[in-house]
Amino acid sequence: MRLILLGPPGSGKGTQAQRLVQRYGIVQLSTGDMLRAAVAAQTPIGLKAKDIMAAGHLVPDEIVIGIIKERIEQPDAANGFILDGFPRTVPQAEALDELLTKERMNLDAVIELKVNEGVLLERVERRAAETRARGEQVRPDDTPEVLTRRLSNFREQTEPLIHYYSDRRKLATVDGMMSIEEVTEEIARILTALGASGSRAAKKASAAKRSGKKAVKSARKTASKPAAKTAPAARKTAKTAAKAAGKPAKTAKKAAKSVKKASAKGARRTTKSSAKASKGARKTAAKAGKKRARA
Ligand code: ADP
Repeated sequence: MRLILLGPPGSGKGTQAQRLVQRYGIVQLSTGDMLRAAVAAQTPIGLKAKDIMAAGHLVPDEIVIGIIKERIEQPDAANGFILDGFPRTVPQAEALDELLTKERMNLDAVIELKVNEGVLLERVERRAAETRARGEQVRPDDTPEVLTRRLSNFREQTEPLIHYYSDRRKLATVDGMMSIEEVTEEIARILTALGASGSRAAKKASAAKRSGKKAVKSARKTASKPAAKTAPAARKTAKTAAKAAGKPAKTAKKAAKSVKKASAKGARRTTKSSAKASKGARKTAAKAGKKRARA
């Protein structure tokens, strides 16, 4: 899935992007974060951008377009991405269209976060206070004076994008005054209506987690049954658990073998081995969940 979050400074783009990253298993591409990293690392781009950003001006289009182009071509963006802070001008939007066409990528939606201007200063001030309280350095552009300039930039240069994307039938507007949770749910509803769903990776991760849990449950049940009954059931459970965890059949066979052996040796041992299968299932399921979530 490929999304753009559009909204003035303080509208919650970064917060929502992070939540969507988790839900859909796609990457967040924030030009603000990338530029701040370049400033911190004192790269040639960072040196150019430092004063521009601190004064609340926009960094030249060719610089941000170059950064985004390079980033979108990275393998981790192939699965989808959320653009946060880009595009910010019509030429940037045109360059993005060109890039997506060239890469044969489709844009699913542009989500506009609509907020009352009155709360923005309050939100930005709160963000600065929280950053200070954590002992971190406050963004040099998070001051009332610079915010005023950032807001007027937004009105003049970024707001035209609302029409740009609405003309292209890509725009959806969300009330950014709702709670963080409500905004996320609203965005998710829009994405579902558009036919977009969680990424394959994110879906697989939750499916693996679900089936892993199921396997653990049934292994536990098996463990509490009398020995004569448990051997085939436990074998099956071990197989299911290994399958859910994406482990090779060998693991399942091994687990099944140990159950069989235990069964021949008597009831106590079988129960023990089933419990072991249950523990193994829990372990492999957790491992698979983690592995898939990372994928
Ligand atoms: P916010 O959305 O809160 O204003 P960002 O972190 O997105 O903050 O951006 C911070 C600053 O980085 C901007 O004020 C601007 O100077 C620069 N910047 C970020 N993205 C772009 C962009 N797409 N085009 C030009 N400048 C940008």
